[in-house]
Amino acid sequence: MLNKVSDSVYYLSNQDDKERPALGLVCGDKYSLIIDAGNSPQHAKDFLAEIGKLDLPPVKYAVITHAHWDHFMGMNEFGATIIVNRRTNELLQEWQTFTYDDSSLEKYVSTNRMDAKCMEILKEEMPDRDSFKLDSPDIIFGNTLTIDLGNKKCIIEEITSTHTDDATIVYVPDEKVLFLGDSGYGKTTNSLFHIQQSLLVPMIEDIQKYDAEMSLLGHESICDSAEMDLYWKELKSASQAVISASLAKAEEKFRVENKREPSDNELFFIKAFVNDQIIQSQ
Ligand SMILES: [Zn+2]
Repeated sequence: MLNKVSDSVYYLSNQDDKERPALGLVCGDKYSLIIDAGNSPQHAKDFLAEIGKLDLPPVKYAVITHAHWDHFMGMNEFGATIIVNRRTNELLQEWQTFTYDDSSLEKYVSTNRMDAKCMEILKEEMPDRDSFKLDSPDIIFGNTLTIDLGNKKCIIEEITSTHTDDATIVYVPDEKVLFLGDSGYGKTTNSLFHIQQSLLVPMIEDIQKYDAEMSLLGHESICDSAEMDLYWKELKSASQAVISASLAKAEEKFRVENKREPSDNELFFIKAFVNDQIIQSQ
């Protein structure tokens, strides 16, 4: 079932056991726009089946928030105009050259061009894929793009992100709803999970430009502004405590600055910023 955020904004919940991110839907008088296209054609079909249960305008546009497979592998299913930023378009080009039979998938995984989880999901959810080709995007934008769905504007914008260098967000000003994709997360480099410290404040500034009342991160349920403010606050206080690759020193600095122990979230973030210090010093 779709979650209803307002009369014109919905989303399909993420499903961690299937590596499925949350998928967004914005409806105007004439058309609908989706945010992210699913991790497989089956995920896309499940989303379309839920959309079909409601009396909504046809899906005309699909925005891909970044070039991670779990957000775009379902994009062929919608027959929609696919919208990506320039960097996402560059990254997707490799996926358009791929073939998707078993031996090709195994080759891409063994040469680190594809995540093993992606192969597993495609094998499971897409039995018939020997002739599959990923479509190419239709609209490639730079910086920002506004789409009017019929008395419903969507602002599509590139932002700084600690997750990838190709992050796009979608803001619906009428409803003050912000779709963040995975932009607020960290990333894994050489098997080390880290959050790029130098990008944290610029990213938060990019995101807080919007006066969002509700925000959806790619692998979360929707958050109100108080929950998001807490998330950014915890990230910032964790980052402030990390000035070297020493976890013990960072924890101590946190205690001195905040006069309390870090929460579980803050400790997780502190470790990710320490990892970033390690990666940056290599
Ligand atoms: Zn991602």
